[in-house]
Amino acid sequence: QLPTTKLQHQDANAHLHPFADYRLKQQQISQIIVKGDGVYVWDSEGHCMIDAMAGLWCTNVGYGRKSIADAVHKQMLQLSFYNTFFHTTHLPAIELATKLVEISPAQFNHVFFVGSGSEGNDTIVRLVRHYWNQKEQPGRQIIISRQNAYHGSTMAGASLGGWPSMHKQGGLPIPGIVHIGQPSYLEGGQGKSVEEFGLEAASWLENKIRELGPENVAAFIGEPVQGAGGVIVPPSTYWPEIQRICDKYGILLVADEVICGFGRLGTWFGCEALGFRPDLITFAKGVTSGYVPLGGVLVADRIVDTLAETGGEFNHGFTYSGHPIGCVAALENIRILEQENILNQVKNETGPYFQQKLTALNAHPLVGNSGGIGFLGGFNLYKHKGSTVHDHIPFSTSDNAGNLARANILASGVIVRLMPGDRLLMSPPLTLTRKEIDDTFNKITQGLDKTYEQLKQ
Ligand code: PLP
Repeated sequence: QLPTTKLQHQDANAHLHPFADYRLKQQQISQIIVKGDGVYVWDSEGHCMIDAMAGLWCTNVGYGRKSIADAVHKQMLQLSFYNTFFHTTHLPAIELATKLVEISPAQFNHVFFVGSGSEGNDTIVRLVRHYWNQKEQPGRQIIISRQNAYHGSTMAGASLGGWPSMHKQGGLPIPGIVHIGQPSYLEGGQGKSVEEFGLEAASWLENKIRELGPENVAAFIGEPVQGAGGVIVPPSTYWPEIQRICDKYGILLVADEVICGFGRLGTWFGCEALGFRPDLITFAKGVTSGYVPLGGVLVADRIVDTLAETGGEFNHGFTYSGHPIGCVAALENIRILEQENILNQVKNETGPYFQQKLTALNAHPLVGNSGGIGFLGGFNLYKHKGSTVHDHIPFSTSDNAGNLARANILASGVIVRLMPGDRLLMSPPLTLTRKEIDDTFNKITQGLDKTYEQLKQ
């Protein structure tokens, strides 16, 4: 038995949480998570919950893997830290770089290690600008990203991101980053087929490149499927058209795979599931299943060859670039993903079953626009449902529907994430079995039924 109330006060007194409103600090009652095993976590009150968010989109192989703990323990005793600056290295970094090259798309034969997704995206900004300088096209400095995207919390990460609330804090975006709309059929697709809308959304990139002048544009960055921005699966026409436009204007294409990488869409990288061929990939989260922080940037031969030919130091790196503990955790995590055939299950078995259950949630009187891909999904809550997604009527903010539903679903034993607009998101561990999927959706339905009753009153 843990003294939950005392610990909550201690936390509120000393701990500034990320993405929290500090005015509410004293009233804030944080849930204290004390244990994880498989797809379950427990709080300090002993409640057991299915973690349908995999921590923060990252616990891909589930909690409590002894083999990862053993690998980390062994490495800590062998060599707890060494850096990879200049021309030093260590065995875990060599082995992980080799493994990542083996499992990544053919154009990638090199990786630059960082400590997190945000650091990965900062690295991208500096690397693409360095590349164009070395190519003697120094005008190419602008990076095009998308509104409502999330690419991290560092100055460059938050600038690439498209959240006005983040831009307001810190005078962002930094110079040379511009945004276009995202391929959200719900928001922009009215009166069009999904495929037509995909082409239209991609054309916004071409329009922006023409407006800026291609000679000024360095790169375009996007998540294969936008995650924290709302799990927005683009129309199938979107990415191939984006690829065509980037090729046409010689612009580097960057996939932020921090969420989509390492099996979440049933492939090592989301770009493989969505059918495009990036020049750079940012990864983090799922590479270690969140057991230890580690991230990286996969860099295509086209870029590496230029940098190798032109020379000049890339003045960039982090103390923890390729931290040996992160590297061994990643290696064991990747070994588990392979040995347990997890990608295949997500692609062909449990993933489609998860999506089937998610789509079936649309039958609930509160739910519309449910769906996703692989083990990534979301659904919206509506006050009234019309015949198409564009005819549904949302709740007003004062109804507090999203908060109510999230709390009721949590009380039923499932952790989901709420985002503005009463959209609930899911990104469970990739090991979720059929039985656990059934259990997850039964509990979600229980929580939604209760919410429906409360909102009716
Ligand atoms: N990129 C994407 C797509 C993310 O979802 C996140 C984090 O949620 C990041 C980058 C930032 O990663 P980190 O929190 O490890 O810095």
